[in-house]
Amino acid sequence: DAKGQLTYANPMAQKILGLTQSAIKERTYDDPKWKNLRIDGSPLPGNEHPMAITMRTEKPVHDFEIAVQPPDKERFYISVNAAPIHDVDGKIIGGIGTFMDVTNRRKAIQQKDEFISVASHELKTPLTSLKASLQLLNRMKEKPNLRVFPKLIDQSNKSLMKVSLLVDELLNATKLTEGHLQLQQTTYTVRLLINDCCPHIRQEGIFELIEEGDLDLVVNADINKIEQVLVNLVNNAVKYAPDSKQIHIHAVKEGAFAKIMVIDKGRGVPPEKLPHLFDRYYRVDTGGHQYSGLGLGLYICNEIVKKHGGTMGAESKLDEGSTFWFTLPLADTA
Ligand code: ADP
Repeated sequence: DAKGQLTYANPMAQKILGLTQSAIKERTYDDPKWKNLRIDGSPLPGNEHPMAITMRTEKPVHDFEIAVQPPDKERFYISVNAAPIHDVDGKIIGGIGTFMDVTNRRKAIQQKDEFISVASHELKTPLTSLKASLQLLNRMKEKPNLRVFPKLIDQSNKSLMKVSLLVDELLNATKLTEGHLQLQQTTYTVRLLINDCCPHIRQEGIFELIEEGDLDLVVNADINKIEQVLVNLVNNAVKYAPDSKQIHIHAVKEGAFAKIMVIDKGRGVPPEKLPHLFDRYYRVDTGGHQYSGLGLGLYICNEIVKKHGGTMGAESKLDEGSTFWFTLPLADTA
């Protein structure tokens, strides 16, 4: 009504707002028990509520999003449309508001914002170091110091490589989400795939890659894309299980599929996080240690494997290690 007192709420509104028929009569649209918030989380003053705006201005309000914090439930977001109701003489006698739960839409926007902030941060680190090296090189343009010159060029190349890898990862993720992945499948043995993988880690010699199991299985797959998957899993083992110097790559036959596992003896993943690892942007909060990354690696791997008709998964025990695996259809060798 004109005073802001609720007079009627339909069953869906009652459900969303957790109202009972008797509570409706006692409530105004800005009941203090149910905190109305702006979408940035700050309190929404009563006069900024879309119902108050429509009553004051006597004009309708469209798609006005607010957050609602119930006393005992998770915060949710609603998009409100509000309009004044006039009597025959044009005097305002109340207002009507309709609203829609848009919590999922809001969460997707928040996730995107968070991702943009992570991605910018990740790109900034190598760019800052590239900028520093180039500034130093620039300063010694006239009189090159041959002792530091090659070091600075190496440093610049390394930073540039990091930027380029990050941009590839971003482009890959977009391509996959839009369904533009093209496969060039050939037939090869698992041995060939594993032997060719990760020369950077073998050369460094800090981690040992142990190949075992049925390496003679023949698969039909895009070797470059599957190598990318394997490299990602091995790189993750190196990054997240740095104390596990041995990384096992184990192949077994499972029905019409080859199952390839990458096994580390690192700190593992908490069980409640395991189901989310393959989600886009998902990263496990490790508390103390800050690992760099976009949370896209496993998402990209999973999409590549799915496109081949295989599946991907992970098993892990805290402080004992993790096994990340994927399957590929065996080639029809008959
Ligand atoms: P990123 O490495 O960019 O964060 P990924 O999609 O590759 O993204 O990995 C998602 C998350 O899974 C990582 O943030 C990490 O917490 C966890 N993870 C991946 N591999 C391992 C592993 N071998 N051991 C422990 N945690 C892992």
